[in-house]
Amino acid sequence: MKKLYFLFALVLFSYNLCFAQQAKYVFYFIGDGMGVNQVQGTELFQGELNGKIAIEPLCFTQFPVSTVATTFSATNGVTDSAAAGTALATGNKTKNGAIGVLKDLETPVNSVAVWAKNSGRRVGIATSVSVDHATPAAFYAHEASRSSYYNIGTDLYTAGFDFYAGSDFMEPKNKKDSNAKNLYKMADEYGYSIARGYKDYTSKSAKADKMILFQTEEASSKDRSAIPYAIDRTEKDMTLEEITRSAIDFLSKDLSKGFFLMVEGGKIDWACHSNDGATAFREVQDFDKAIKQAYEFYKQHPDETLIVVTADHETGGIVLGTGQYKLNLKAIENQKTSESGFTKILNSMRKEYKNNVPWKAVQDALEENFGFWDEIELSEEQEARLRSVYEKTLKGQKAKMEKSEYAQDEALAAEAKRIINEIALIGWVSGDHSAGYVPVFAIGAGSENFSGRLDNTQIPKLIAKSAGYMIEE
Ligand SMILES: [Zn+2]
Repeated sequence: MKKLYFLFALVLFSYNLCFAQQAKYVFYFIGDGMGVNQVQGTELFQGELNGKIAIEPLCFTQFPVSTVATTFSATNGVTDSAAAGTALATGNKTKNGAIGVLKDLETPVNSVAVWAKNSGRRVGIATSVSVDHATPAAFYAHEASRSSYYNIGTDLYTAGFDFYAGSDFMEPKNKKDSNAKNLYKMADEYGYSIARGYKDYTSKSAKADKMILFQTEEASSKDRSAIPYAIDRTEKDMTLEEITRSAIDFLSKDLSKGFFLMVEGGKIDWACHSNDGATAFREVQDFDKAIKQAYEFYKQHPDETLIVVTADHETGGIVLGTGQYKLNLKAIENQKTSESGFTKILNSMRKEYKNNVPWKAVQDALEENFGFWDEIELSEEQEARLRSVYEKTLKGQKAKMEKSEYAQDEALAAEAKRIINEIALIGWVSGDHSAGYVPVFAIGAGSENFSGRLDNTQIPKLIAKSAGYMIEE
């Protein structure tokens, strides 16, 4: 009997050794464009707001495991989001622009989301930009080009995951083939309910077998490519936090299966393409709020939950400190709108004044939205720059936009943003991506696997290892 008891204890012990720490619930958060300085800049900004020269930490930076990862693609020292997404999703480097295929642009490769599904887990893919954008697409689509939005949309259905969320589809109708099915209409055929906004989600979720959550049609009619920036948000707008809460709620319908959820903070990248520091830091704070939803879940299931937070690449070459051995990040607290948001304000002023906007009205708008002349003193040179752009663009001239990757902005909005970044002593090197390390943070079951300097291709494999998914090469 004693012997039997010992044997039983031994079996139990080895069972625990093998399976106890397996991650039944996996959260994979990807901050697009969120390099190490985007994270640390946000924390130093928060510190300054509390009157100290020190960081005020975000939630995810306090996770017990942290390291950095390299991001170069198969073809470029500096990756784009498609190749980086493919690396983070499938564990394979590919050509910039390619989604879920190798660099021959033909061989499809499956993502950790597919491995999770094949292991019986429920799966969700969510983002603050369109659901067919590069990062989310890398988890379910196989396309040679990231801009094949319609095809990516059809791949979403064939992948058949339980939950998808984003602002909308970019190309619900096939532009090249008018006979092709409309992506909204395909929802029925594949057993999906489409909810529009958080409220609509809560009323539809109980009866839905599979779910696609988009923002309201009204919001999409203004901008279907993304939900609004956190800094520009109004009460009506859907948030990444609500998206994440809905995803957790939906995937929790049958907890016995476990789940895998990827959430992208997609607009950190967009703000950094625009070199808009305030907007970028507010997006990182907003991403942290979404992560807090997962952290709450983790606290309920600490032994079976893994949260991994990383980024696909750095954007903008942001530098904290442009000389003088100091920072003045608190200045950007006075910025109340993104560069694009201020463009909209200037646009409505153009209409009001028929393209002949008085300088006083422009000054008032700059004071209200950037704190200039009020909270923030401008040098003569800075004021002269604003005045000169004003004379050239808003005094009887039609709008002439400054173009960046995801935005076209009024020259005056761009100049005001440049000046407030200068005052904050934030520098930017480019309007594109850079090859700097990205941070990796992890907590929970299997998080100890994420140690040592990583390459982005290792991350999905380590998730699979932590969660016990079969990796399909
Ligand atoms: Zn980008």
